[in-house]
Amino acid sequence: MDIMTHTLSGIAISTIVASLSKKRIWEKGVIVFCGGIGGALPDIDSMSLWSRFDSTIGAFFHLPHNGRDIYFSNYWYSHHNFAHSLVGGLIITSCLFVLFSLPVIVFSKNNNRRNIFNRIGVYWIALFLGYVMHLLGDLPTPSLTWGGIKLFWPLSVAVGGSGHIWWWNNYDIFLIIGGCCAINMGIINIYHHSKKPFIRYFPLFICIGAFISILHQIDQRNVNFVDRGQTKRIWERYWEYEIKSLEIQKEILGEKLYDIMTNVDRKLTFYF
Ligand SMILES: [Zn+2]
Repeated sequence: MDIMTHTLSGIAISTIVASLSKKRIWEKGVIVFCGGIGGALPDIDSMSLWSRFDSTIGAFFHLPHNGRDIYFSNYWYSHHNFAHSLVGGLIITSCLFVLFSLPVIVFSKNNNRRNIFNRIGVYWIALFLGYVMHLLGDLPTPSLTWGGIKLFWPLSVAVGGSGHIWWWNNYDIFLIIGGCCAINMGIINIYHHSKKPFIRYFPLFICIGAFISILHQIDQRNVNFVDRGQTKRIWERYWEYEIKSLEIQKEILGEKLYDIMTNVDRKLTFYF
């Protein structure tokens, strides 16, 4: 799935955390920001596709293969391996959290340090939940050489890779998650002004509704985008699948909205 939808899914889940937390409004903004970062973070393992990867990181660590081969292989640092696992998520988000907490710990008064997790742990929760949403989002994409994602790394079993959706052009899912984020941010703002306690739970229900809608949308695609275990075949059929997924979007969104989305897509420099 594309990085924008992943990021939005992290933002969406963290609006629940922000709404339920008793933080100030700007702190809730930071919680949502952390969720977005968490949503984008697992694709850090795509770094091996960076044009200067071989001459820098690859050379420094004496890696046995070039970045492109690493990306499509199943080394722990390949795409869809360690960084796309729950253990990887725990380690990576915890490291980031500790790194960014250090200034808070250093500059806190002694008696404040003891309950540091109570004060800033909620940012880590948003970061980790955003991370998990990314992993969920990758489950219905084609398996390719990885067979899915190594959700339970260090176990070598691959999960997902069902090919229910194509990697790109999932505009309908993007719009549902985007709508969910916008509504929930509005709700957080309303709660901030009205302070009616039950309003805090609305983002949770909106997210559940969005999740069910996404499952429905996934079920709408009557094409299976993967031929299990036949990696070569998916490359041969890449453009066929790409066109097919665009046709599905046109059908779902209608011509007008579809044109808007494809125009946005064309302007972006990354896959969407
Ligand atoms: Zn991913």
